[in-house]
Amino acid sequence: MTFDDFPSLLARAQAHAGDFLHDLPTRFVGARASREEMLAALDGPLAMAGEPPMAVLDLLAAQAPRGASACAAPRYFGFVIGGALPVALASDWLVSTWDQNAGIHVISPLAAALEEVAARWLLDLFDLPRGSGVGFVTGCQMAHVTCLAAARHGLLRELGRDVEADGLHDAPRIHVVASRDAHVTLGVALRYLGMGTRSLVAVDADAQGRMRVDHLREVLAGLQGPVIVCAQAGNVNTGAFDPLPAVAEVARARGAWLHVDGAFGLWARAGGAPALQAVAAGMDLADSWATDAHKWLNVPYDCGVAIVRDAEVHRAAMTSTAAYLVQTAGAERDAVDWVPEFSRRARGIPVYAALRALGRAGVADLVDRCCARARQFAEMLSAEPGVAILNEVVLNQALVRFDDDQTTRAVIAGVQADGTCWASGTTWHGQAAMRISVSNWATGEDDVALSVAAMLRVYRGLRGGAD
Ligand SMILES: *Cc1c(COP(=O)(O)O)cnc(C)c1O
Repeated sequence: MTFDDFPSLLARAQAHAGDFLHDLPTRFVGARASREEMLAALDGPLAMAGEPPMAVLDLLAAQAPRGASACAAPRYFGFVIGGALPVALASDWLVSTWDQNAGIHVISPLAAALEEVAARWLLDLFDLPRGSGVGFVTGCQMAHVTCLAAARHGLLRELGRDVEADGLHDAPRIHVVASRDAHVTLGVALRYLGMGTRSLVAVDADAQGRMRVDHLREVLAGLQGPVIVCAQAGNVNTGAFDPLPAVAEVARARGAWLHVDGAFGLWARAGGAPALQAVAAGMDLADSWATDAHKWLNVPYDCGVAIVRDAEVHRAAMTSTAAYLVQTAGAERDAVDWVPEFSRRARGIPVYAALRALGRAGVADLVDRCCARARQFAEMLSAEPGVAILNEVVLNQALVRFDDDQTTRAVIAGVQADGTCWASGTTWHGQAAMRISVSNWATGEDDVALSVAAMLRVYRGLRGGAD
């Protein structure tokens, strides 16, 4: 291989990408290939002799239509999955092309400057304290790790300890208080940080999954030692927000660190609708925030964001130094100071490109449109006898129940097999439900109408069969 191979290979990659993207909005939405089919096409012994690069590219592309789901498509409503804005995807191609190790400034003043600006823009957009530390990580999971490492550092330093040097040996237990409906990644972060999932103390939640502040008060009164309160902005099932202003007041009175899981809910702060501003009020009162860009900002995987109010605490928890590293003493940004990774992709660059291309108005419109589509789902589906919407649709999530558990699960399976759209299931407070998450920049009213028609076609078919 030589540098002369680049133009022809990249042109081929572009042609394959064009085909994939052309079919994306209309193709069967789920993945269709099994593991066995994928391995039959792709497996084999690692050969001594290599193959022509073009043939390798063609092989990859040939398997994508069946092996990849159309999770970036406008009618994919599973989990909480964003698509890729054209400008975000295109800039991500450039990130791969430049192949910068964006860990330290000296390797890439370009990446450092773009991430410095993107970080500032995000604080502006979310209206969070402007001096906060910001790190671009792989996802909200690692944003939790980063933020909770900062919390651990800050709380133990107040007790005269140096957790980076001593670890947690002999340290007082830090209790982590979160609602029963908190996201699973919070517990995983505690495992990584040596605090363990038994540090978690559950607070009761209401029917929407919102933390009950009266119970939070009670729980905090019974705890000794340092405490982290984890609030949630956007429950993964209902989209509900913990009542942040009240949670913050109680947490502050206790001297607790307040962390917010705003994987997608933090983006409500960027919405234009007054109802969203009300729902997202008080989030600025926290000490740290974890969010995703690969969900609602619709940049390609992967990109999460860790934000910590006290930048100095954030840096102390994350920084790494070594004799051979060339780190800056000035204002230049070394990403290693803000994230767990050492070598890293410049994943903040597509964030910069997306924000620059959308502007504040474009982001607000993206958020508002997704919420409007979720309400459209709720309105259209609830008009059907036997269909119930289990949540208050305050954001981009709708929980749908068809008759009973068995029918609901059968509708989900039928919808996935139909391929018009894709939605997955959950159990919400003991009841089976279909989850609908509208997180894609391209989802239009027609996409919702087509998807509702498919869901009701499956549901009526099951009902007809049962009569
Ligand atoms: C998606 C999600 C996470 C985890 O985010 P990743 O980007 O998958 O690491 C955490 N919390 C909530 C509420 C989420 O929706």
